[in-house]
Amino acid sequence: MSSRNYTGRHYAGRHRVQQRRARLPRALSSGFVLPTTAAAALVVTATGATVAESAPQPFDLTGQQTAMARTQEAAADQAVTEIASRRQDAAMQSAALQGRVEAQVRAARAAQRKADAEAKAKAEAAKRAKKWVRPIHTWNITSGYGWRWGKTHDGIDLGAPTGTPLYAMSKGTVIKAGWEDSFGYKVEILYWDGSISWYGHMSRIDVQSGEEVLPGTQVGLVGNTGHSFGSHLHLEFQRTTASDSPLDPVPWLKDHGLW
Ligand SMILES: [Zn+2]
Repeated sequence: MSSRNYTGRHYAGRHRVQQRRARLPRALSSGFVLPTTAAAALVVTATGATVAESAPQPFDLTGQQTAMARTQEAAADQAVTEIASRRQDAAMQSAALQGRVEAQVRAARAAQRKADAEAKAKAEAAKRAKKWVRPIHTWNITSGYGWRWGKTHDGIDLGAPTGTPLYAMSKGTVIKAGWEDSFGYKVEILYWDGSISWYGHMSRIDVQSGEEVLPGTQVGLVGNTGHSFGSHLHLEFQRTTASDSPLDPVPWLKDHGLW
C-alpha cells in the first residue's frame, strides 16, 4: 500500500465511499471463482481492499452470523453438552459404585452379625447342653449306697410313684436300653464328661440305645420291675462301661450340683 493510498484513507466523505463501491464488485466479477468457504470468509478492509482470510469470520458485512460460525458454535455447544453428559455419567457411575460398595459393606456387617449371633446361640446351646439336672423331680432316698442285707448296694434308691417321669441328667448318649435281670427295665447313659448313669426298675423306656439325649430329655418312667420291692428309681453310677466300678452317688451328685 502506497503512502498516497494510505493518506487517502483520511479523505473524508464521497471519495472513500466511491472507492469501496468501485473495487468490491470488480474483484467478484473478474471471473475468479472462490471456493464456498473462502467466499464466506471474504471481507473488505477499511480501505476497500478485498481479502480472503483463512480463519473463518464470525460475522459478515451485515453483522449476521456466518453459516460456518453457526456450525462451529453449534459444534462447540454439542461438545459442551457431551462433556457435561459424560461428567454426569461419571458422577452417576461413581455414585452407583459407592452405593454397591456400601451395600457390600452392609451385607458383610449383616453376615458378621448373623455369624456372631449363631456362634453365640451355639455357645449358649452348648452351655445349656452341659448343665446338669436331677433324674427325678422328687428327691426321697429310701436306700443308700453300700452294704445292705449282707451285700453291697451299688446305687441309691429314690422312692417315687410308678409313672413318674425320668430324665437324662445332661447331654449324652444312651448306651443301653432294655431288660436286665434284677434291674428290670434299665437305661444306661454315657454323659459328655465321661460319667455313666444307670436307671433301674423302670416301668417304661422311652429311648433306645445310641440315642442322643440332652439335660431333661425324658427317658422313661419310674416303675417296680425286676428285683424290686416297691416303686422306686435305682440310681447308680459307673466309672467305666465295664460295669464293675460303681461310684458312691452322693459325692457325685454333690460334685454336679444336684444334691
Ligand atoms: Zn437300688
